[in-house]
Amino acid sequence: MSDDNDPVDALVVRGLTRRYGKRVVVKNLDLSVKQGDIYGFLGPNGAGKTTAMRCMLGLIARNGGTVKIFGDSNLVRSHAHIGAIIENPVFHGWLSGKENLRLSASYANIPRSERKKAIEEVLERVNLAERARDKVRSYSLGMKQRLAIARALLAKPKLLFLDEPTNGLDPRGVVELREFIGTLATEDGITVFISSHQLSEVEALCNRVGIIHHGELRAEGNVAEMLMSDKPLLDVTASDPGALAAHCTERPDVTVLKAARGVVRVRLDDIDAAMFNAALVQGGFEVSALVPATRSLEDLFLEVTA
Ligand code: ATP
Repeated sequence: MSDDNDPVDALVVRGLTRRYGKRVVVKNLDLSVKQGDIYGFLGPNGAGKTTAMRCMLGLIARNGGTVKIFGDSNLVRSHAHIGAIIENPVFHGWLSGKENLRLSASYANIPRSERKKAIEEVLERVNLAERARDKVRSYSLGMKQRLAIARALLAKPKLLFLDEPTNGLDPRGVVELREFIGTLATEDGITVFISSHQLSEVEALCNRVGIIHHGELRAEGNVAEMLMSDKPLLDVTASDPGALAAHCTERPDVTVLKAARGVVRVRLDDIDAAMFNAALVQGGFEVSALVPATRSLEDLFLEVTA
């Protein structure tokens, strides 16, 4: 039963399907985003994320399914509530950041009397006010990305779609953008739908994720709950990591989740840590560390897209 305090549905997608020729690129996709969520939309290259987002935004037609934005399936009305950056944003390089925003404000039907204030506000918000009069061709990639966000914020959206916004940014740029997106949600109350390959960023930023593979939703839910494991995980360091991984793979009572830099991560399916340690020693391994581990979003991603 719904409660008055339940968050409102910001985006509800049901049965979304898109074909290119005979190839079904998005298959019967269901997902839902509540107001206030920062929702991470994940999937390997070619999984269908951009295609699905384009369909949700009505930029390309869908072959089936419904998309409701704040309860409304009417594209024109729902567009009043959304801002989006899909793929690499394009600007007029010979114009300044401010001039580009003036153009966008006129396309976005922002009343003439409100444009100046709206542009100044978004430039301040993305920290570009000082460079607003410089030509966009002189901007760094990070500045262009911030200008794109400023443009998406012009019409004061309630739901923001960001398609791989950290693409090409350096590590500091990635962290700054993550922090900025967090403040859009917490300070401006904007619901964010973001596709990304930066799993550690998504884990730090998003409260919910959906993972798609070959156009199908493979997992969706609250990040913290999805990362909880009902069985213990251990990072094992021992002599001969290759042989250790092979040994563990053959055991019926554990599952090898990954092996990297000499450490083998196992899930204890049907054995406790002490017995497992004893079995390894008995098997001739010199065990130097057995450390309880927590599942990362990367682990989950690799499992569900295997
Ligand atoms: P990435 O993470 O690499 O950006 P993605 O998950 O966003 O990938 P899409 O760009 O949606 O994936 O592509 C999904 C599939 O649809 C791919 O196989 C791609 O080749 C195909 N595709 C995308 N656009 C078109 C198009 N215009 N015509 C034909 N096929 C297309």
